Amino acid sequence: MAGYLGNRFDMIVHHLAVMTPKCNIYDIKKGDSVYFTPDILDQARKEGFVPCEYCGEKTSKLTMNVMKINGAML
Ligand SMILES: [Zn+2]
Repeated sequence: MAGYLGNRFDMIVHHLAVMTPKCNIYDIKKGDSVYFTPDILDQARKEGFVPCEYCGEKTSKLTMNVMKINGAML
């Protein structure tokens, strides 16, 4: 599974492991979704993508929130 998913429409890259409902990644159209090789944030940045404000930069903080969300769903 990919770690990062870019949206070519708004040039934002999401970190899938810590994505939040606010990321709306399911709204990204297939033609707009971009995966990276290598699958790292630096590569996304090189291609002109900006880290998502919800999941891109605040990885460690949001990991906790995502774990809570996932726990609530289980
Ligand atoms: Zn995001």
